[in-house]
Amino acid sequence: MIDRRNALKLALGSAAILAAPGVRAQDAKPRTRVVFLGTKGGPRVGIGASNPANLVVVGDTPFVIDCGMGVSRQLVRAGVPIPSVKYIFISHHHSDHNLEYGNLFYNAWAAGLKTPIHSFGPKGIEAMTKAYWELNKFDVETRIEDEGRPDPRPLLVAKDITDDGVVLKTSDVTVTAFRTPHPPIVDNFAYKFETPDGVIVFSSDTAYNPKLAEFAKGADVLVHECLYVPAVDRLVATTKNGATLKKHLLDSHTSTEDVGRIAAAAGVKMLVMSHFVPGDDPSVTDDDWTRDVKKNFSGKIVVAKDLMELRLPV
Ligand SMILES: [Zn+2]
Ligand SMILES: [Zn+2]
Repeated sequence: MIDRRNALKLALGSAAILAAPGVRAQDAKPRTRVVFLGTKGGPRVGIGASNPANLVVVGDTPFVIDCGMGVSRQLVRAGVPIPSVKYIFISHHHSDHNLEYGNLFYNAWAAGLKTPIHSFGPKGIEAMTKAYWELNKFDVETRIEDEGRPDPRPLLVAKDITDDGVVLKTSDVTVTAFRTPHPPIVDNFAYKFETPDGVIVFSSDTAYNPKLAEFAKGADVLVHECLYVPAVDRLVATTKNGATLKKHLLDSHTSTEDVGRIAAAAGVKMLVMSHFVPGDDPSVTDDDWTRDVKKNFSGKIVVAKDLMELRLPV
């Protein structure tokens, strides 16, 4: 088997170190890192790549970005104790980004959470949090009584984001939200993480949006969603709602060629492609994903894999 980690190091030079999926780096712990927990776009669950979720760790503080199905399991696989999570960001309320939001918190509580987790997301996350406790009232109240656990409800502090701007400022990290169109959804936010080791921008799901390049201007790392147009026809042929799904995909996501345009206009040091649509078509290779990006962007390109780790600075 090819030593993928060395191949990636080679491709990226010595500044950035990427650990292979499923392999944790043995070297000293970096201060800032990104782990791509789930890289497959869309709500379908399969045995391949997990649904969308990302992790930024700065010092000992984990920030989770999106909670697609499988996020709790992927954190465990990445070696991050679930109760250590401090912040959750939801980009938008498509289920491949929020389906495991409440359950991630629940799993933290089940594993001994004692400190609050703050969550941020577009309008609806506060209501969703309240509804989660209704949905799970019986179990939660039974366990509080029967197992002597603390009441989890005050420990999940949700906040609706209604406008662009700074949503969180800790001693070493500033997180800024930026609205980007994902028709028909308008309450949809890209997030910028300014860390001591560099700036990371997550695009969220988005239609081609040149304004996103302004938001990501000069970032060290841009993690951008992507759509491989030639595979869309094959994908929609497998569903009954093919024509409608095709229209949604083309109107609300960014083609690989346009991803390259955004990365070039933003002048980022590194583009990480993730949220692959389709994310479970084995005939689409890494070369397919990057070919049209390279027409417009000449910087470093990484095709993310589940549990791949990127260390900053890049
Ligand atoms: Zn999505
Ligand atoms: Zn979406």
